[in-house]
Amino acid sequence: MLNAVYHPIYSALPLPANHRFPIHKYRLLHDALLAQGVLQPERLHQPVPLSLDQVTQVHCPDYVQRFAQGTLDRKAQRRLGFPWSPPLVARTLTACGGTLRAAELALEHGIACHLSGGYHHAHRDFGSGFCVFNDLVLAARLLLQRQAVSRVLIFDCDVHQGDGSAALCQDDPDIITCSLHCERNFPARKARSHVDVPLENDLDDAAYLATLDTVLPWLLNLYQPDLVIYDAGVDVHQDDALGYLSLSDHGLYQRDHAVLSACQQRGIPVAAVIGGGYAKDHADLVPRHSQLFFAARDLLSQR
Ligand SMILES: [Zn+2]
Repeated sequence: MLNAVYHPIYSALPLPANHRFPIHKYRLLHDALLAQGVLQPERLHQPVPLSLDQVTQVHCPDYVQRFAQGTLDRKAQRRLGFPWSPPLVARTLTACGGTLRAAELALEHGIACHLSGGYHHAHRDFGSGFCVFNDLVLAARLLLQRQAVSRVLIFDCDVHQGDGSAALCQDDPDIITCSLHCERNFPARKARSHVDVPLENDLDDAAYLATLDTVLPWLLNLYQPDLVIYDAGVDVHQDDALGYLSLSDHGLYQRDHAVLSACQQRGIPVAAVIGGGYAKDHADLVPRHSQLFFAARDLLSQR
């Protein structure tokens, strides 16, 4: 049975009409997976928000305070991509708490999924591209501090490079970052992950999966993490509004299955977050993000 993390606050952020961020996808995905029985109410966990104190374990205290109080300057706010509001603060802290909760559940059950997360463009002292605080690095760092784990791999398959995670962890031997991303895409200036795999535009299922197959086993064997945090962004999909790769729904399933299964075979707990995925009609994203949950369900039922 799949353990997953969700909070209604994920879709409860008021945004201007036609804002690019697909705020409704979280609720739509939750409702669809629950209706299909992929998620079960008794295995659905509601996270508690991280405290500002916890967030400062990764981010600059001045940035954290300014964001919490709504006093970021206009340039910093624009870079974030969201208008500031108290619900944005609550949502951000809850979503970061959700990735930590998913990681805890993964340590307990082997696989767990978070119906949010993947805010990988958040840097130490600024946010960018809809990412305020870096939930991936926060979850890793907080678990390391508790000595629940000794080495974490952040494996990022979102179409955009995980530049925030890379920059935050570049001098950290205990949090390894790997990003598979479309080279000619946001962010224009890439950071250096421990392992970067830049991909050509229009890469299809077969080529993508072949690349994954050469990178992932090597990476797991080399670093031997005791937790993987997997960003399963679906903006690699052929119809994504912001990505330039060409994966199908089935390609997403194969990718997610391959990642979860590589971890499961080695006995490495894996916490997956849904990451990016953009479409004008938010309902279009439900089948794409569902593939992660189908793959997790299938692997857990075979065990
Ligand atoms: Zn993305």
